Amino acid sequence: MGWALALHGGAGDIPRSLPPERREPRLATLRRCLDLGAAALRDGRPALDVAELVVRELENCPHFNAGRGSVLTTDGTVEMEACVMEGGTLRCGAVSGLSTVVNAVSLARLVMEKTPHIYLAFDGAEAFAREQGVETKDPSHFITEDNIERLRQAKEANRVQIDYTQPMKGQEAPKETQAPMDDKTGTVGCVAVDTAGNLATATSTGGLVNKMSGRIGDTPVVGAGTYANALCAVSATGKGEEIIRHTVARDVAALMEHRDLPLRDAAARVVAGAPRGTVGLVAVSADGEVCMVHNTTGMFRACATEAGHAEVGIWTDADANGESVSVGL
Ligand code: ASP
Repeated sequence: MGWALALHGGAGDIPRSLPPERREPRLATLRRCLDLGAAALRDGRPALDVAELVVRELENCPHFNAGRGSVLTTDGTVEMEACVMEGGTLRCGAVSGLSTVVNAVSLARLVMEKTPHIYLAFDGAEAFAREQGVETKDPSHFITEDNIERLRQAKEANRVQIDYTQPMKGQEAPKETQAPMDDKTGTVGCVAVDTAGNLATATSTGGLVNKMSGRIGDTPVVGAGTYANALCAVSATGKGEEIIRHTVARDVAALMEHRDLPLRDAAARVVAGAPRGTVGLVAVSADGEVCMVHNTTGMFRACATEAGHAEVGIWTDADANGESVSVGL
């Protein structure tokens, strides 16, 4: 028992050659958010508040694919989405197709708390944001130079991608920026269990680079990218279409519920069951157990427990059980 939290900043084909200037700002943000979340849990804040607080911070960091820094659609626009869920009550809220809302995760929480619905999207979600008076900015605020370049390269390569991988073979890194674009941006998420044993999860994303306008991924789909019940809270990242097909987050909870599997075994089984290179997740159980697992090359992630375990990492030297061991810090 005891509080615990875990967060992620996206999973994918993250090369071990990722230069320190691309790696460090993200790891620093993960550490800061971990401290923030741990302090809030120590102070007795509810799990839902903590998950929202941490995801807001991650959304505000332009190095991650959520809020400012969200990747671009094929039209060069931003369409952000987010979801929150409270385990004990199964209350949840989700939003998609946002282009002006600074913190999509907080709008998702307002959908949960202030409407009879679960999911609002596009114009209706934007109108609800105005009505609630949440902070908004011109759509251009969310678009970064890096993401304009990522879209350009994705279009050139004619692909939709989790986020920017490597320049295609035979292509040079863009001369204009001189920046080695061999980095990853990522969806963000946080799961928490508080001292009273309440569970909550929150996930937020800009989706996939070069996605069609109108595309909805796994993040706001309850049971796919985001799910919590009385046993566990899960936030997933990776290829949204695969995560939806495999109902990743709900499957972890279902294996615990119907097969009595411990969190780690349930999560490892679900991730192993999805196509290689497509899924990562962070999860906590009501007992304060933490799990961070992925079948991608890496996943930006961090966790802490009341018992004193803390970890921040990108890559995993997977053992036979697929267990996470952080390296490269
Ligand atoms: N799962 C997200 C999506 O498909 C992308 C990510 O996790 O980076 O929209």
